[in-house]
Amino acid sequence: MHTFDTLPIGNQFAGLPPHFYKKTLPTPVPEPRLLHFNPLAAELIGLDPAEAQRPDAADYLCGNRLFPGSVPVAALYAGHQFGYFVPQLGDGRALLLGDVSGPDDVWELQLKGSGPTPFSRGSDGRAVLRSSIREYLCSEAMFGLGIPTTRALSLVGSHLPVYRETEETAAVVMRMSPSFLRFGSFEVFFYRGQPEEVRTLADFVIEHHYPEFADAADKYPRLLGTVIASTARLMAQWQAVGFSHGVMNTDNMSLLGLTLDYGPFGFLDRYDPGFICNHSDENGRYAFDQQPDVAAWNLTRLAQALTPLMPIEAAKAELDRYPALFAGSYIDLLCAKLGLPADKSHVPLLIELLDLLAANRIDYTIFMRTLCDFSTEPDNINAPLRDLFIDRAAFDAWAATYRGRLLALSTNDAERGTRMRRVNPKYILRNHLAEQAIIAARDHDDASEIDRLMRVLQQPYDEHPGMERYAAAPPEGAQPISVSCSS
Ligand code: AMP
Ligand code: MG
Repeated sequence: MHTFDTLPIGNQFAGLPPHFYKKTLPTPVPEPRLLHFNPLAAELIGLDPAEAQRPDAADYLCGNRLFPGSVPVAALYAGHQFGYFVPQLGDGRALLLGDVSGPDDVWELQLKGSGPTPFSRGSDGRAVLRSSIREYLCSEAMFGLGIPTTRALSLVGSHLPVYRETEETAAVVMRMSPSFLRFGSFEVFFYRGQPEEVRTLADFVIEHHYPEFADAADKYPRLLGTVIASTARLMAQWQAVGFSHGVMNTDNMSLLGLTLDYGPFGFLDRYDPGFICNHSDENGRYAFDQQPDVAAWNLTRLAQALTPLMPIEAAKAELDRYPALFAGSYIDLLCAKLGLPADKSHVPLLIELLDLLAANRIDYTIFMRTLCDFSTEPDNINAPLRDLFIDRAAFDAWAATYRGRLLALSTNDAERGTRMRRVNPKYILRNHLAEQAIIAARDHDDASEIDRLMRVLQQPYDEHPGMERYAAAPPEGAQPISVSCSS
């Protein structure tokens, strides 16, 4: 296993021409303190988890010291933010340290919050502790849920003051991903009128991530088609679990279909299709129920950026597949959550249920997990579910139809329940839970809550005896917290 000093670090991305990035060193943070380290992520790059015990671990994990061989770069990209094109964004507070070939895959290591870069546009290049804890926990929660995501290796805190609405302190997260490239990585060159750069980047993505079609004559439409398919699948997974990203700008959309750039995200507590987690999003552009359509809009921006590489008809043919890909995945996932075989004929039943949950203001995750115990016995009214509803007659009517569907299958309640518990999480990163972990770390220098929460979230489908309070709905009076961008 590797130590910080022997980590075999390369940088394939820095092999691209120099105008794709800017070499930039991290700005040191004073008195860094390792608040948490994630051994599951360390395993992916063959890093010895005992390295976290070294007195200088925090220095390596915040960028005060570099892994030998690391040549940090800030990547250039652009993006459509809230519908408007911004010609130059780029890593304003992130640095790619390089990549490491792990036992199974190659992982890029990236610092987030490591100080200004040539793309910082006058901002401080920092991330506050609050948003860093949220990203750290949520990326591992998504991993636990089985949803494609960037990962998080470590969280380092510092007393360095950072000014947002109030004074806060800085933190640095070490993120890991097979790639941090975004839709905006293509857009920047398309809008600058640099089609050769678009081609160079497409070839790079194909070579490193989709070598299976490197030699195909239609490799560029296939690249676009692959991004469309993985994005459609990701949107279905977000909708099925009740995750709202909050800032679906094209610079936050991963070319690999990963959940990327955790900011003001939120999981639904009660089922509210119009839920807006980002308080800067006054018009609800990125509301929960808009996400699948926004992804389609963003994919159209990507397709435009790739038009130097393919006839417009080819791009359109790929885009046209999105609605069916999304709907197919979403229906499959919802059917599985209900313990039903994937079939379009169940769609009215699914819609009726979601409407009922919204109208009765029922906690989405708790309902779905409780549904795993649904009894098809004739006299059983399924009181634990029924009691969640204000309109119990409406529930009874829905439950009668659902029961009929279940009885038509060759399955029994226990077997179906076991299967459903593997797709209906008990634990999600509710805002009020993240908030508790943030307060403990910020006000009491206590990272133990981060640790407890992370362990539960990395295995959200399991029972964790003694941890039931992490599965509860927000306490009475807790309003859904809306968080702003770029903190
Ligand atoms: P986000 O919406 O947080 O993904 O950020 C959008 C853009 O703003 C990206 O180019 C970021 O690198 C940049 N950015 C956000 N916060 C900061 C910051 N504190 N300092 C410098 N750049 C930032
Ligand atoms: Mg971003």
